[in-house]
This record gives sequence, C-alpha cells and structure tokens, in this order.
Amino acid sequence: MSALKVWIDGKIVALEDARTSPLAHGLHYGTGVFEGIRCYATPKGPRIFRLDAHLDRMRRGAAHLAIALDVEAMARASAEVVAANGFENAYLRPLAYYESGGLGLDVAPLTARSMVAAMPWKSHLGDSHASRGVRLHTTSWRRVPSSAVPALKICGVYANSIIAKWEAVKAGFEEALFVDDRGFVCEATGENVFLIKNGRVIAPTHDDALPGITRATIVALTGAEERAVTLDELRDADEIFLTGTSAEVAGVGVFDAREIGVGPMTREIAAQYLAIVHGQSPDHGGWLTEV
Ligand code: PMP
Repeated sequence: MSALKVWIDGKIVALEDARTSPLAHGLHYGTGVFEGIRCYATPKGPRIFRLDAHLDRMRRGAAHLAIALDVEAMARASAEVVAANGFENAYLRPLAYYESGGLGLDVAPLTARSMVAAMPWKSHLGDSHASRGVRLHTTSWRRVPSSAVPALKICGVYANSIIAKWEAVKAGFEEALFVDDRGFVCEATGENVFLIKNGRVIAPTHDDALPGITRATIVALTGAEERAVTLDELRDADEIFLTGTSAEVAGVGVFDAREIGVGPMTREIAAQYLAIVHGQSPDHGGWLTEV
C-alpha cells in the first residue's frame, strides 16, 4: 500500500482510490497532456518552481486535444497535493486525459479527467551525473516533427522518446540525443541540450524541440546565444550539458565515442540553478510559488 495522496477531479484521495478505466481513451491513444514540475525546500518552506510557465505549456498542449484546462484549479491542486503529502522536495505530475465517451478518434464526445500527483524524486538521470556526467548517445531515430504533432507534452508522443532512449540504454548509454536529417541538433529524450565553446554558452534552437522551461531559465541566467547547431559543432564543444525539470543541469561526461568530462562552467551553472530553485538566490523570487 502506498501512502501517496493524489488530487483527481477536485479531490485529494489515496493513490489506490484514484482509479481509471482500462477502456480510457488516453490509455489507448495517448490522448492526454502532462507536465513535470518540481517543488523544492527553500528557507521559507516548500516552493514550486515556475508553476505558471509549466501550466501555461500544459494548457497549450491540452488545447490541441480540445481539452479546456482549468489552469487556476491545476495551480491550486499542485499546491494542495504537496501540502497533503507533507513534502518539502517533490516531483509533481499533472495530467489531463480523455477517459470515457468511446474509442473513436473524434474527441467531441469524450470526457477528460485531470489529476496532479506528487512524489519524492531524485534526478531521473541519477546522481552520478553530478560527478562523472551523463553518457549521451546520438540516436538513429528522428524526433517527431512539430509539423506532425506540436512540440508540447502530449502523452502519446513520448513513445518517440522512449524508443530512442531504449536504443541508447541497450548500447550502454544513459540518454539519447535527437539529430535531424540535415545534421542539426534537436534535443534529448527528456531534456534540452546546451554547449559551451571558448567560454560562450550556446543554446541550440530547433522547431521540433520542446520549449523547455529549464532551458529558458538557463538562457536568462547565462545570456546564452540561441541558434541552430550542427552535430559536428556539438562534437567539437568544450562542454555539453542537458537541462530539464527532472534532470536539472546535468553535465555530459561521455558523448558517443568521446570522453568529454563535466567542465567547470557546467558545474558553475548547475550550482547557480540549484541556488535559484532552492530560494538561496534573491533575484528570482518570482519563479517560486508558495505551497
Ligand atoms: N525535452 C523533452 C522532450 C522533455 O520531455 C523535457 C522535460 N519536460 C524537456 C525537454 C525539458 O523541459 P523542462 O525544462 O521544461 O522540464
């Protein structure tokens, strides 16, 4: 029995009591939208990092599926579920998905449900990346183009990330990097990518990459140059790091055949990021929501 409590359709319930149908539309077709959000212990108590930006991205994804997301209710739910579980540090997983109304592909007759779960969390790339770095593999798979499905957190689209990551894991790596047919760098399966060359921070841009909130945070922090980057240029970088809510700022230690090692600027940026999310840096109070 898990003691976790989740918020579902307006109520906080024990995880076991939050049931869904095996015929849920979202289970069959991935017709849902989710977010990954972190809550951190700060000197003033637990604070949710960039909640508004996450829920705004979720709202945009939901709109493509004709799910009218109640952003204010989701914001209240996020704070409530952290408090109900008594967490200081937590990972939040809001989800809105179609459950009932049939298995047809027209969403008009369907009914959506929404929930927010909170759980204890460590970085999804493990703690090892802090010292020796992530082992990153350029995948042979292509990212789903944003001309086919918007680059937002739509549930079914994550099969693309999962297939690419499995290829990387089978090859002895921890994470996969998507590159397009023309050789431009897109993103990793659950993180955006950055590089450092001659002391400059560069944030690769790509239409098919998720507009990452951690990426935007690091661009604001470092004044990184945002532009298209080829795989050749990435291979020649002095440092490479990944950014994501779950992974935070994770240095790349191995990139395909190259032992690149986590560099000093990456470590400095990672430390600055952690100071901000933990409320130890006075400048960015606006990014922290009280629970
Ligand atoms: N790309 C993908 C495909 C992701 O799933 C994530 C995680 N949300 C990211 C990038 C990083 O986004 P964020 O910094 O907003 O968590």
